[in-house]
Amino acid sequence: MDYEVVIGLEVHAQMRTATKIFCSCSTSFGDEPNRNTCPVCTGQPGALPVLNRRVVEFAIRAGLATGCRINSGNVFARKNYFYPDLPKGYQISQYELPVCEHGHLDIDAGEGETRRVGITRIHMEEDAGKLVHPDDRSGVSYVDYNRACVPLLEIVSEPDMRSAAEAVAYLKALRDIVMYLGICDGNMEEGSFRCDANVSIRPRGQEAFGTRTELKNMNSFRNVQRAVEFEVERQIDVVESGGAVVQETRLWDVDKGITVTMRGKEEAHDYRYFPDPDLLPVVIDDAWIDAVRRSLPELPRARCGRFMATYGLAADAAGILTGSRALADYYEAAVERFSRPVPVANWMISELLRHLNDDNIGIEDCPVTPDGLGSLLKLVDDGTISGKIAKKIFAAMYRERRNDPGAMVEARGLRQLADGGELEGIVDTVLAEHPAEADSYRGGNRKVFGFLVGQVMRRTKGTANPGMANDILRARLEG
Ligand SMILES: [Zn+2]
Repeated sequence: MDYEVVIGLEVHAQMRTATKIFCSCSTSFGDEPNRNTCPVCTGQPGALPVLNRRVVEFAIRAGLATGCRINSGNVFARKNYFYPDLPKGYQISQYELPVCEHGHLDIDAGEGETRRVGITRIHMEEDAGKLVHPDDRSGVSYVDYNRACVPLLEIVSEPDMRSAAEAVAYLKALRDIVMYLGICDGNMEEGSFRCDANVSIRPRGQEAFGTRTELKNMNSFRNVQRAVEFEVERQIDVVESGGAVVQETRLWDVDKGITVTMRGKEEAHDYRYFPDPDLLPVVIDDAWIDAVRRSLPELPRARCGRFMATYGLAADAAGILTGSRALADYYEAAVERFSRPVPVANWMISELLRHLNDDNIGIEDCPVTPDGLGSLLKLVDDGTISGKIAKKIFAAMYRERRNDPGAMVEARGLRQLADGGELEGIVDTVLAEHPAEADSYRGGNRKVFGFLVGQVMRRTKGTANPGMANDILRARLEG
């Protein structure tokens, strides 16, 4: 039997606001536990929430960037459940009237194909606190409310994805967008961008959906890929062996590489949603939506297309360079300094990104500026240095945090040696020092040529113009 996979994703993106959604406590991550708390976010009796306007603005941004309708009147609702990390006994979220609805996101479905994934809704809500279970056998658990009331956007997709790879492509595209918009830092390890996946299978050709399971606890793209793939195989096994998939929530066990039952449908919460009486409906007028629309940056997909059209980059290079807004900005600044876009792209992808990856730092912390890189490439272009020397200089610029490659080339005596007379003298010296190799070459051993070129390079500290060095050496040996 041939099965079709059906996947829908629910993403929680933590908003990069300075303060929480309903109080003025800081949202900063990693502070001493319970430092960023007040009566509102710890749920003290009588404390009243006040909506952070910035969160609404961020929600509008996300909605516009994903083609959603922005609901001019939307309502906060209480989602009731009991858990120690939720001091009020309910989470303030949105239910019947979310801020955004009916959007979409286009993703690459491989082989040049595009798939449009529907976005059902985007709503605003508060995050819960965090339980801490120390590994010290004390039997004590702690709760940290620093995260309680930190603003989240929940972005719910339609069940439009057909493979684990598509689910990952959607997540990557969505993460790129919220990062480009500057509304979320996209950090999956710290949990500021996280997702749950609804997964089901059905015989190919059947229209009705199969019974779905919800997967939780996947904190990287790789884990999403593995968890969904495992779950699909598991469901197929269940069906093939005559059983039925049970609707339930399953946890991804990253160490074992399997999904395990967390809770069944009968244990699912009845959240008893109702409009929060402490908060007025949110009214968004057209002027506000227009103002936000005008402030939107160019989005990753559009920018990638422009990089291909304007700079003549291949799709994969354009994709890498538009992988983050900062990287794309860096590229364009470097091209402004040195206007040959393809070599700039090649250099960034090979040398620059390799250095950054080795040190595990982002482009924001790169010691070499776009101007520095552009200046270096100019030196290669005008023949002052060879590409090989340029790599050395680049490494030195990076290491010493310097951006004056011209001065560094002079100080190190690495200016390319392209003076014919001088090179001839050096070639003669090398041949005089290695008569045996020279004779061997003349006797037909062509392999020794590389050795002799190497000697010329050594004598010139690698600065000899390689083409000229080759020509002169060959002329001397064969002339
Ligand atoms: Zn607070």
